[in-house]
Amino acid sequence: MKRIVVLGAAESGAGAAVLAKKKGFDVFVSDMSAIKDRYKNLLNEHEIVWEEGKHTESLILNADEVIKSPGIPENAPMIMKLKERNIPIISEIEFAGRYTNAKMICITGSNGKTTTTSLIYHILKNAGYNVGLAGNIGSSLALQVAEQNFDYYVIELSSFQLDNMYDFKADIAVLMNITPDHLDRYDFKMQNYVDSKMRIIQNQTENDAFVFWNDDPIVAEELKKYNIKAKLCPFSEFKSDSVIGYVERDEYIIEQPTPFNMEQEELALRGKHNLYNSLAAGITADLAGVSNEQIREGLKTFEGVEHRLEKAGRVRGVEFINDSKATNVNACWYALDSMRTPTVLILGGKDKGNDYSEIFDLVKEKCIGLVFMGVDNTKLHAAFDNFGIPIADVKSMKDCVDECFKMAKPGSTVLLSPCCASFDLFKNMEDRGEQFKECVKNL
Ligand code: ADP
Repeated sequence: MKRIVVLGAAESGAGAAVLAKKKGFDVFVSDMSAIKDRYKNLLNEHEIVWEEGKHTESLILNADEVIKSPGIPENAPMIMKLKERNIPIISEIEFAGRYTNAKMICITGSNGKTTTTSLIYHILKNAGYNVGLAGNIGSSLALQVAEQNFDYYVIELSSFQLDNMYDFKADIAVLMNITPDHLDRYDFKMQNYVDSKMRIIQNQTENDAFVFWNDDPIVAEELKKYNIKAKLCPFSEFKSDSVIGYVERDEYIIEQPTPFNMEQEELALRGKHNLYNSLAAGITADLAGVSNEQIREGLKTFEGVEHRLEKAGRVRGVEFINDSKATNVNACWYALDSMRTPTVLILGGKDKGNDYSEIFDLVKEKCIGLVFMGVDNTKLHAAFDNFGIPIADVKSMKDCVDECFKMAKPGSTVLLSPCCASFDLFKNMEDRGEQFKECVKNL
């Protein structure tokens, strides 16, 4: 019997183990950290052997194939040992893809993945499609393939998932943008990260489609290197001969495959970045055969995703916006760009090699105060101290919100869009966003 070893037993690993067991493999799961109870229960229910807090070599290096959690870096000692022995390492998505004939709609990009994925799912679901949501959101693709029978999957793919995908193919691939992120996992080489994102189009044929943001300079350069067979579906904020989706005179327009238009004002999501997300989602839904009426309905009724430019409350004329998910500089750029009132901006956390110069102009134009919330704010001070904008340093969310409220004036906005990961002071970006909303409520 072929032996499958799953490294990392969180959502994707546990799901992959269940699917592998169901398909008759000899399955073993190993996690260096503690496994959450709900995943232990899932594994036990399926009589899958597992270990936690260690990797036992003798039980791992005898694998025929290894399914690796996207959280484990390529240079982790056990991964290096597997590579030395030429044992194939794949991702959960690659594995699950082998056991379903469902149409795969896959979304990647440095920013906008979750929003666009959720919006596409919302439109399809609303239109009555038998569709599952997977990848970085919801339950793992593998578990759904094991237990459900969907006709379509809408899958959010990170670069880490794409790294270990080889034969998998997206029927519709969506690429939002490529800006520097996670470089610590790519030898600090941007091209490595770019190559990983471009895997979204691998194996595509003329029967597939590739939806992408036409104005991304990196994607434009990359496209020259590939012989793409899929139907190209570029979109942009502006009309031109080379795009099929755009905005013209406040009308949201899709030219192909089915001509579609609606008032931009009617879109549920606001901000320029969300216009891109709405264009990508509308084109994708159209490609999947959703009627114009249903696309319009879906784009109008989407409620947004938590921690992405989410309204966190209004206190004595000051608007609070939770964009905790902005863990890189580009995401913050779009958040700031969409601000219409003077803004107190909260920055800081765990810096992933950020270059803040991208937001200098917007900070100068829009910010009336900056609050730095991190264990080490040195880099932020070096970047912004000479702007002549009031700055405060804080180390807790309560102090942060209090400080912002002092700096803000009625009619202004406090924006949490920190450009950084949250792990120095918070459990994760959700925890940071929740604490922000809680402190705003208590003002
Ligand atoms: P991801 O899943 O790729 O991290 P999200 O949809 O969760 O993307 O959004 C992450 C952050 O990026 C949020 O702060 C959001 O405001 C911003 N954002 C969303 N869509 C885009 C886009 N198309 N381009 C740039 N930034 C975006």
